[in-house]
Order: sequence, then C-alpha cells, then structure tokens
Amino acid sequence: MTTGIWLIGARGNVATLAAVGARAIARGAVGDTGMVTAREPTASLDLPALDDLVFAGHDIREQSMEETAEAARDAGGVPNRDVLDAVREDLREIDERVNTGTAISCGQVVEDLSEDERVAEAAAEETVAGIVARIRDDYASFVEAEGIDRLVVVNVASTEPPVSDPERYDTLEAFEAAVEGDDRDLPASALYAYAAIDEGHPYVNFTPSTGSALGGLEELATERGVPHMGRDGKTGETLVKSALAPMFAGRNLHVMSWEGHNILGNTDGLVLEEEENEAGKIQSKQSLLEDILGYETHNAVHIDYTPSLGDWKTAWDHIHFRGFLDTEMKMQFTWEGSDSALAAPLVLDLVRLISHADEHGAGGLQPQLASFFKSPLGVDEHDLSRQLDRLDEYASSHLGGEAR
Ligand code: NAD
Repeated sequence: MTTGIWLIGARGNVATLAAVGARAIARGAVGDTGMVTAREPTASLDLPALDDLVFAGHDIREQSMEETAEAARDAGGVPNRDVLDAVREDLREIDERVNTGTAISCGQVVEDLSEDERVAEAAAEETVAGIVARIRDDYASFVEAEGIDRLVVVNVASTEPPVSDPERYDTLEAFEAAVEGDDRDLPASALYAYAAIDEGHPYVNFTPSTGSALGGLEELATERGVPHMGRDGKTGETLVKSALAPMFAGRNLHVMSWEGHNILGNTDGLVLEEEENEAGKIQSKQSLLEDILGYETHNAVHIDYTPSLGDWKTAWDHIHFRGFLDTEMKMQFTWEGSDSALAAPLVLDLVRLISHADEHGAGGLQPQLASFFKSPLGVDEHDLSRQLDRLDEYASSHLGGEAR
C-alpha cells in the first residue's frame, strides 16, 4: 500500500523538514522522537510505514527543497549535516514532483515570495474554475505516475489573510457557484482543499488559513465520506498554554492577564509580519485560553519577525493570577523551539492517522486529532491532556482494547 503526501508549500521549512524526517527515519539515520504515532497506543495501530510514504506537492517558490534544508541547517543547525547528507538524493527526487501552485487571494507578501512571474500572472488571469481543474490534474498525474493507493493532501503553505464573511460559502451549492462564477475572494487554500476532497483525498490543514473550514467544504466531505481536519498546528506557545491553563482552571486560580510575546525569524515570521496575514494566526492563538478558563481575561498575543533567529522561535509568557485571600501571584515561562522540528513530526503523524481514519471509512471532521491543532474544527475541548485522551481512546477502540 503506497501512501502519497501532497504538500502544499512543499518547499517551505515545515514541509521540507517533514520530508527530511520521514526519509531519515526510513533510512535509519535518526530515531523517531517527537512523533506522537511512535508512542503507544497509536504505535500499535496499522498505520502507513514511513518508508511507504511518497512525497510531492505544490509551491510558488523556485528555491528547491534541498536549498531550503541547507538554509535551515546553516541558520539554525536543523537538520544537522549527517541527516541532510543521508536524504539529499531523496530531496532532489521529491523536488522534481513539486508543481507550480496558485497564490490567489494570499496577499501581496505571499505573492512576493515567488520569483516566478507566472504565479502573479496566473493569480490575475487564470479563472478560479481553471485553477481548480489544474490542481485536480496535478493530484491525478501524481497518483497515476507513482501508483499511489491513497493520497493525503496537507496544507503547509504560508498563512493567508482570513476570508471576510465565510458564511457566503456555507453550502456546497454556494461554494460551487462561487467557483463557477469566478469569485476571486476564494483563497488558494480553499481551492486546494476543494480539489482534494472532491477527488476523495483526505485533507489536513496545518495552517491558520481557511482550507476546508467552510460550510460548503464540510458538506462535501461529509457527503463524500472524506476525512479532513484542521486547523493551525499546535506546536509551541499554544501547546504549552493548552497544558498549563487547565491547571489554573482546576485549582480555581483566577487568571487576570496572560500576555504572550513571540519572536521568530523564518519566512513564516516574515509573512506574519504583514498585518492581514497575521490576523488569522492571532485569531487562532487567542481563543483557546478563554475556552479553557471559562471567562474573559486580558490575553494578548504578539508575533514579531526577528530575522537573526532563523527557524528558532522564542515565546515569552507572563501570567498574572489571583488565589486564596486575593493573593496576587505571577508565573512566567520561556519556550525556545526549532519551529520546524516541532511541526514536521506532527505532519507525518497527521498523515498516518488520517490515512487510518480513511481506511476505516470515517469521513468528515476527525475530532480524535484535536490535540494537533490550535483551532480544532468542530471541537470545543482545548485541554491538551483531554484531547490526547481522545486520541488514545480512538486508538484503543480500534485495537479492540478498553479506552483508558
Ligand atoms: P515557510 O514560509 O517556510 O513555507 C511556506 C511555503 O509555502 C513556502 O515555500 C511558500 O513559497 C509556499 N507557499 C506560499 N503560498 C503558497 C500557495 N498559495 N501555494 C503553494 N505554496 C505556497 O513556512 P513554514 O515555517 O514552513 O510554515 C508553513 C505554515 O505552517 C505556515 O502557514 C505556518 O503558519 C504554519 N504553521 C507552522 C507551525 C510551526 O511550528 N512551524 C505551527 C503551526 C502552523
């Protein structure tokens, strides 16, 4: 059984590191620490093996995956020289399967990432229906050429500005009418998602962009029995928040303010410096805290681009809270992570787990995958440990064991 991974944003840091990791583990050059599916009970599920994954994708940049990996190694030491040397040939082979995507409605800062003039021209001239047809053809050609049994499409492209009035696309009929009517407000991420789901390919949105989070696309996925899930991978500050906030809630410690400041230096940081693109990210980082605490609190999140940090991200959080006898106390934490090394294993986990859901006929949203996302679609539970319980229960029920 061959599983194809179609990475939208294939030449970016997260996508490249996911490919590097899968190939390096498959070649025995490195272990699988950091992968959720390497731990029990998920490890016992019948999941696609890492060496059976075949990578391809879309991007709008010409910089190759090997160049992205080299730049990441030079700037931050991840991947290290030995790991990169072990997979260099694999990266070159994968890069040949990267097609030119579309940057429609992604904002100027994303369009500017591309030196390929055809991308800007296509964004201006190609019809929306034409773009969808081209994306479908790209998926189909890969499936045919590589003998892929199941294709999983994963969005790891730059963050787009949020769609205004997404309710416009609440039904499949309205969404398809918008495609046919050349509605240029439809962003690239939704077109990639539509082409995937309509062709029966499971879809994962690792970004804060719209992707499959439109009523019309949810309807399509349910109708066709195609699994999909998103959005915005939970990898750093928000991951820690979702583990820590339940402690304050459980001990009835009243959080008066929780301020978070993030600095990062990679291309993601550059794109997020643009206000319209940043809006989606902030939205998805902010809502979780109040959902867990159950009340409003002063809760600001800032993201600043700091080029010298490369792929390393620092999050500094300051929590001001009140306890018994109205005693005011404070907690601060600093999280320093390699952005892509935190995200890449989750991309592989998600591909393996959504393939499993697809194999077992589970279409529509996949709540057992909520722990992977800052804004899990269709799930109100943000407490990390409860979300992980849900994944373990899913695994245990498929293994025929008792849910814990
Ligand atoms: P990156 O800038 O390194 O890579 C993004 C890639 O997407 C680039 O190669 C770019 O050319 C390409 N791209 C942009 N628009 C495209 C389009 N419309 N079609 C095809 N390709 C397109 O960014 P990254 O660090 O790899 O992050 C990727 C995404 O994952 C971002 O949206 C980011 O917000 C999200 N994310 C990352 C993390 C993390 O920890 N690294 C966590 C959660 C979410």
